[in-house]
Amino acid sequence: MAVPRRRGPRGVFARESRGPRTGLESLGCRPLINACGVYTDLGGSILSPRVWAAMEQSNRSFVSMTELLEKSGRVLAELVGTEHARVTTGAAAAIALGTAACLTGMDGDAWERLPDLQGLSRIDLVIQRRHRYKYDRCARLTGGRLVEVGDDGGTTTEQLAAALGPSAGVLLFPAHLDGRPGTVTLENAARLAHERGVPTLVDAAYLNDPPETMRRFAAAGADLVCFSSKYYGGPNGGGFIAGSQRLIDTVAGIDFTRFESGRYRTFGRPFKLDRQIIVAVVVALQEWFAIDHRARWAGYRAKVDRVIDEIEELPGLEVAPRGFTLDERLIMEPVNCVAIGFGPESGLDCEAVCRALREGDPAIATVTLGGKLIVAMDTVQDGDERIISRRLREVVVG
Ligand SMILES: *Cc1c(COP(=O)(O)O)cnc(C)c1O
Repeated sequence: MAVPRRRGPRGVFARESRGPRTGLESLGCRPLINACGVYTDLGGSILSPRVWAAMEQSNRSFVSMTELLEKSGRVLAELVGTEHARVTTGAAAAIALGTAACLTGMDGDAWERLPDLQGLSRIDLVIQRRHRYKYDRCARLTGGRLVEVGDDGGTTTEQLAAALGPSAGVLLFPAHLDGRPGTVTLENAARLAHERGVPTLVDAAYLNDPPETMRRFAAAGADLVCFSSKYYGGPNGGGFIAGSQRLIDTVAGIDFTRFESGRYRTFGRPFKLDRQIIVAVVVALQEWFAIDHRARWAGYRAKVDRVIDEIEELPGLEVAPRGFTLDERLIMEPVNCVAIGFGPESGLDCEAVCRALREGDPAIATVTLGGKLIVAMDTVQDGDERIISRRLREVVVG
């Protein structure tokens, strides 16, 4: 499995190498073709020319950040069907700031004291046991006490209702886990919480396809909903929180603005934003609502078919079009990836091929899952699928 000599740059690399070396390569970093999908560790997404132009334009002047956040929030809220919204440094920050807002309300002294919860009575971060997930850690940043309800077998309505008592500050609900067997649904959980005066904070970071999906969570009773812009073509470091006027106003009080000029040294100061990012989060979402999503999926399918055409005759390979989901499962439809199995006669395994592609030139990042190599097209730039096919042939044929 020798790594063949590069025959000359193509695709994005051809364009890159013609320009001055001021970007990634001048820092000694190798640009890579991302055939994994949207991953924070690979840079999130690639910004469209329109988003990039809006960022560039916003860079030309100063602006009141409080005004920009307020007015951009109105635009986001209109799109996702809530009273108000606010840009944050990603969905993770949205979870932290939203949780903080639920615990403190408009108590400025509490904004300053967090993660010290002194004086606050509603400090429980209530979550169903089968909803525990990586990002609940971001809610705990506030100092709040995570309270798991139920057990590995599930959570009943009665158990959840009992946990939403006088010390409950917020109900945390990861929307991608809604409907998991044994759990209380978002609609029922939000109703229980409401009846007890507890706000529901939903993480819907990647639930944006089709875009109208983004309206579903507030409609189901969520008070706050967190989205990540990395999943809709916006900045890797962007996202927003949407919800009721009162809670978004509280987030505004607690976030990074007015730390110097206002009365309180607020909890949210480390979650600072650039005006360029704020503008990009909004313009990317407007674009997301405007584009033809069927055409977007058809584009993935076309790339998948081109790669399959190029490699399916190779000995020992089992090649199939599949869907690779954002929670890393392989499904039949809709198709956005090639799944490649390596039979014994190929003399290869998916881990070795994944490594060879990553270490080759150009570097190509792929995923391995259940003994298969996944080549996902969501983040593959037009034309780069040909480089992927060529490299796969080289690695497999040796
Ligand atoms: C990526 C992700 C987040 C965090 O979003 P950022 O915008 O990267 O902070 C939160 N929740 C889920 C489910 C995610 O996939």
